[in-house]
Amino acid sequence: MIKGKTAVVTGSSSGIGKAMASRFAAEGANVVLNGIEKPEDVEELRAGLEKEHGIRAIYSAANLMTPEGCKELIDAGLTEFGSVDILVNNAGIQFVSPVEDFPDEKWQAIINLNLSSAFYTTKAAIPGMKEKGWGRLINIASAHGLVASPFKSAYVAAKHGIVGFTKTVALELATAGVTANAICPGYVWTPLVEKQIPDTAKARGMTEEQVKRDVILDAQPTKEFVTVEEIADLACFLCSDGARNITGAHLSIDGGWTAE
Ligand code: NAD
Repeated sequence: MIKGKTAVVTGSSSGIGKAMASRFAAEGANVVLNGIEKPEDVEELRAGLEKEHGIRAIYSAANLMTPEGCKELIDAGLTEFGSVDILVNNAGIQFVSPVEDFPDEKWQAIINLNLSSAFYTTKAAIPGMKEKGWGRLINIASAHGLVASPFKSAYVAAKHGIVGFTKTVALELATAGVTANAICPGYVWTPLVEKQIPDTAKARGMTEEQVKRDVILDAQPTKEFVTVEEIADLACFLCSDGARNITGAHLSIDGGWTAE
């Protein structure tokens, strides 16, 4: 199902996006990598995927903060591979502050990247998917697409927004062979999270294990991080034939967080 398809994964130079792009490549898809990490690091990933899996991988450094950047990314896939069959909107950033102090530019940046970029990439990818009668749109939302936490107003607003956007697109494409779904992870073990642990442990006089369990994973009943591979497994399943009637869904993978 995935073999021979083209997958564009936004923000795939790190973390969850990197795991999904790598998994799609392992399943035989050509991939379009994207992100703002160091070009030489992305080149190592790109070349490694081609070598290991015998697929083709390209890298677009398109900045998804703008509509033009989003279109540029989809155009890169269309130009190189002739189609974009799988689109995963994954790129995202976070900023934490009380609403009254929340900087306007941080609000705008989070709305631009975490929400609006998915609108622009999806808009650009839909015509080709409709023409082929097959497509998979996957939006990486968050547990924060379903419930809130204080001090994350922009992130929570964007993630709730993307869940609504996903449902709308699913309805519009319901008879076109194209599904649209949102994945809602809880805390995922990514380099971003990992780097915070030693400093937090020092600041709070805790062991690193205590920080993971009692600070970061306080919201997650399993007290375990979700892994990037688990998210990639779910994304892969959504691209399979067996998932063709799953559309407009938000799928939690959050260790029970949103069950509480
Ligand atoms: P990450 O920081 O490891 O990766 C983010 C990616 O976005 C990177 O590849 C980065 O280069 C890219 N990016 C940042 N700004 C960009 C821009 N202007 N244009 C293009 N790309 C840009 O983070 P992650 O933890 O892998 O998060 C990926 C997604 O998963 C995000 O949408 C995040 O909100 C969501 N998520 C993460 C967690 C978690 O605990 N890690 C939980 C729930 C949801």
